[in-house]
Amino acid sequence: MRCWICGDEAVYFNPQNKKALCKKHFINYFEKKVFKTIRQWKMIKEKDTIAVALSGEKDSMVALSLVKKFTNKYGQKVFAITIDEGIYRNKAIELARKFTEELGIEYYIFSYKEEFGYTLPEILEYVDLPACRICGILRRYLLNKKARELGATKLVTGHNLNDEAENIMLNLFRGKLIENSKLGPVTGVNAHPKFVIKVKPLYFMRVEEILLYAKLNGIKFYSGKCPNLSSSFRFKIREFLDKIEKDYPGTIDKIVSGHLEILPILKEHNRGEVGTCKICGEPSSQEICSACRILSEIEKNI
Ligand code: SF4
Ligand code: ZN
Repeated sequence: MRCWICGDEAVYFNPQNKKALCKKHFINYFEKKVFKTIRQWKMIKEKDTIAVALSGEKDSMVALSLVKKFTNKYGQKVFAITIDEGIYRNKAIELARKFTEELGIEYYIFSYKEEFGYTLPEILEYVDLPACRICGILRRYLLNKKARELGATKLVTGHNLNDEAENIMLNLFRGKLIENSKLGPVTGVNAHPKFVIKVKPLYFMRVEEILLYAKLNGIKFYSGKCPNLSSSFRFKIREFLDKIEKDYPGTIDKIVSGHLEILPILKEHNRGEVGTCKICGEPSSQEICSACRILSEIEKNI
């Protein structure tokens, strides 16, 4: 296989447009597409301070490296935050720390144990909800709070095209289509002074492209899996989408592009005031936020 631009040996084949690219032209294609996404969706502005949610896995490591590259021109401050759920993060944190040192970026780690008093496995002993549901609520809560307290105006996450298709289908299968109003390259339907806008520079990149970009650039990332993943509903959806995508290439692009078409309508429909949690003072659509509800459930059952 040869690169369609220069004829060199190809490292990548795009099943949609049936074109192959060599290392140099793949990296060029990847970076251009990510930077275009950042510009088009106005993800990073001149005066922004940017927090990157860094898990140590490939997506967030690639997102961090590209955000750093993008901001080199205007010099916005970039720092990274890892949330340690107390499950399997040690190796990932080690790799994340090394990478932030290489890039010269400030790095912060916050753990469930220190912030809430319990690790995720400990919480699971007292709260009867799926592990990923609790984990997602508490992680989003801490990321928003810590990013804001550290002065961030934007929070970058490593979500990619596959993740977004998964989220859209998850909400569909759960009968919660209106929740899709909270998805998109720039998230947040309703503004709240304590809410840091979340942006996803890898939104249009496929998981295999991100993996290849990381490998070609020598980015060392953690590739282990959380023990809770395989029993989650998300994992079933992932397997289902992977199979459909293999048989019908381009399906996940269509799921996401269809979603983007109706996103403005969903956002309009779901517009309303975001209140403040009576217990912790963080943004919440209900009187008491989901994180505080989980924590009070522990106290009740302990
Ligand atoms: Fe948390 Fe679930 Fe992800 Fe594990 S798989 S880190 S429990 S969201
Ligand atoms: Zn709360």
